[in-house]
Amino acid sequence: MSDLACPHCRGTVPRGASVCRGCQAEVEYGAPTFAILFVAIVSAVLGVKTSGAVPESLSFLSWVVGVGCFVAGSLLLRKIFKDRVNFKRIYRTK
Ligand SMILES: [Zn+2]
Repeated sequence: MSDLACPHCRGTVPRGASVCRGCQAEVEYGAPTFAILFVAIVSAVLGVKTSGAVPESLSFLSWVVGVGCFVAGSLLLRKIFKDRVNFKRIYRTK
């Protein structure tokens, strides 16, 4: 467990914190949203393709394929982006 350095205010943020105390930047860990979205879309497409390829009595397979791909993809993303930390500074107007 080591502190992270905020790129916006140069302050230190304890690993695991969700907000920077110095500048209120949001701290995001793990896979970026677009990567998760990409996995979800690919899984859905594969599921739909499977449902078109198998007889109706085996239509449950499309769910198995779709959900299976999503779970596998999510685990893969978690592995790839294990050490990724992203500071998102939102300029709030009050
Ligand atoms: Zn900061």
